[in-house]
Amino acid sequence: APGLTVSDLTIRYGDTEAVRGVSVQVRPDETVAVVGPSGCGKSSTLRAVAGLTPVAGGAIGLGGRDITHLDPARRGVGLVPQDYAVFPHMSVAGNIAYGLRARRLPADRRRRRVAEMLELTRLTELAGRRPGQLSGGQRQRVALARALAVEPDVLLLDEPLAALDPQLRGGLRRELSAMLSSSGCATLIVTHDQREALSLGTRIALMREGTLVQFGTPRELWEDP
Ligand code: ADP
Ligand code: ADP
Repeated sequence: APGLTVSDLTIRYGDTEAVRGVSVQVRPDETVAVVGPSGCGKSSTLRAVAGLTPVAGGAIGLGGRDITHLDPARRGVGLVPQDYAVFPHMSVAGNIAYGLRARRLPADRRRRRVAEMLELTRLTELAGRRPGQLSGGQRQRVALARALAVEPDVLLLDEPLAALDPQLRGGLRRELSAMLSSSGCATLIVTHDQREALSLGTRIALMREGTLVQFGTPRELWEDP
């Protein structure tokens, strides 16, 4: 899988410069955690990579291909939004199959891929349930399975654990970490929780007021505060 390169990204909303000159690279096999206080530009950066926010300056590349102005659906980027909207009227399996149907994957391959994703996210027993019959953590796993099903080159997660009960967060954080390592997908994850960043990120991008202030492994950030 190709890696993601964000170069000198600038994002403006009217007169507000929300993101200024941010450069981040995500290797094919790693998870980069973007961390920083509320309003520092994390979600904007993520949405720009997904193609959901116009870019005022800089470039976004995927494996050497410039995707800065490419249609969101054609980027090879899977986004799990903050409220992990799953379709309430569809079963767990139906939710996971959704993107595969849209891509017209034949039924037998679709079934196989859905089964793989159910297994990865440990939802096999719950395949026939509706989202309303699931816990928050289970719904979050459905959203993750749906994003991964179409084999994106890059997975984007916006505050994946924020909507969960604090007591459940630790457990799902460990699960998510394991699922991300076995997904083999370059992952960019946004969080305001430093502990979450440290446990999920192979590298950490620390933002403040629209700029990138540090980028490195947890160890590097520790040694050079
Ligand atoms: P974070 O994810 O770190 O909380 P955001 O990227 O959501 O930060 O926001 C960065 C800045 O841009 C904030 O000042 C926010 O108010 C502003 N902002 C975000 N989205 C919009 C928008 N759609 N229109 C105008 N301003 C926005
Ligand atoms: P539909 O009835 O619209 O096909 P389902 O929710 O029954 O909706 O299934 C959606 C998709 O998921 C289908 O492609 C189906 O083949 C697949 N699927 C359903 N259940 C499973 C399962 N337990 N394991 C693997 N794939 C499944």
